[in-house]
Amino acid sequence: CAELPVKKHIWFHFCQRLHKLTSGRIFRCYVCNYVTSGFAYTCDECVVSYCLRCSLVSDLARYQGHEHLLHPFVFSYKELCSACGESVGFTYAAMRCKPCNFNLHRTCITLPLTAQHSSDVHPFKLTYHEDDDNYSEGHYCDICERERNPKHWFYHCSACNTSAHPKCVLQEYPFIKPGTIYTGNGHPHPLTFVKKVEFYPECHRCGKHCLDLSLQCKTVGCSYIIHWECR
Ligand SMILES: [Zn+2]
Ligand SMILES: [Zn+2]
Ligand SMILES: [Zn+2]
Ligand SMILES: [Zn+2]
Ligand SMILES: [Zn+2]
Ligand SMILES: [Zn+2]
Ligand SMILES: [Zn+2]
Ligand SMILES: [Zn+2]
Repeated sequence: CAELPVKKHIWFHFCQRLHKLTSGRIFRCYVCNYVTSGFAYTCDECVVSYCLRCSLVSDLARYQGHEHLLHPFVFSYKELCSACGESVGFTYAAMRCKPCNFNLHRTCITLPLTAQHSSDVHPFKLTYHEDDDNYSEGHYCDICERERNPKHWFYHCSACNTSAHPKCVLQEYPFIKPGTIYTGNGHPHPLTFVKKVEFYPECHRCGKHCLDLSLQCKTVGCSYIIHWECR
């Protein structure tokens, strides 16, 4: 990460200013919409931040799921995304191989190649095609147990032979490092991101147990903890 440019032109950003590299903040990436801790490219004028994964997709992307170069296209097409099957219409930054009618959301291009979910001890691998030797009739997501279209990308654990929707695997905030400090929610002490909370303490806002991503005060004598969603 030492070689990241301090300022960078984000080609798909609307105002065309240089973006500043920032770190140590929690932000929601304007492209992929994931809450992320770590490096970001930020435009001070527009007050938007892009995560590194989204910032570093170049304008001519060669993508593993496809053999040709992909070109950016903006606003005008109504095709479906080859990765998730949803419309790419009016997302301002999708990528396309025109001869093949192969289209990808920027959010799908930047899906992490591996991801962890609490339902499986192994990391899931991003998979582009269902294997031909897979004769199972139905295709289901092992997390939400709903149907899965085998033509769309999915996460797969080969050790357990489990498969899941990308949305289901990534719902647990994969881009927040536990231990990151969060400030600015009105509590007098700094709060720390925690994912697995011992003894399941109750949230100070909603009263339910904290199992998933939470903000915990580690100041001695203070037991304040809230769900990330309750902040
Ligand atoms: Zn992003
Ligand atoms: Zn801007
Ligand atoms: Zn997509
Ligand atoms: Zn192509
Ligand atoms: Zn699912
Ligand atoms: Zn597994
Ligand atoms: Zn406190
Ligand atoms: Zn809560």
